[in-house]
Amino acid sequence: MELKTKFNIGDNVIGISLYSKEVFVSCPTCDGMGEITIKDKKFECPDCYGQCGNTEYKQKEWNTADEEGIMSGYNNVIKIDIDITKEETRIRYLLGRKYSKSYCGTLWDENDLFENVEDAELECSRRNEELE
Ligand SMILES: [Zn+2]
Repeated sequence: MELKTKFNIGDNVIGISLYSKEVFVSCPTCDGMGEITIKDKKFECPDCYGQCGNTEYKQKEWNTADEEGIMSGYNNVIKIDIDITKEETRIRYLLGRKYSKSYCGTLWDENDLFENVEDAELECSRRNEELE
């Protein structure tokens, strides 16, 4: 059997992940002002307690991993995991560092890794369009 992997040990790659997006939803009671006016007097909005709204995390979107603060230097392939079953061949890459005899890092699916930022961002926008 001959298997072709997209990347090699030591390759620097860009990963993409599905992140929950922070969305600020302004309070409908005070229109995001944090206060309401009754008879020319201002009161703290009873619905948002002056916070002007709420941050919600529901929406998800694909983004390049480095934007989310993955430590630099953790983008190189140190180990390749290959699982072959009757149904599928799954290739995953461990990105991280090697400490004496142990490996430390995160396992990534081959489909979520790219050679450069341009390709990664292109795939992010393609997948985000599919989400909408
Ligand atoms: Zn409010």
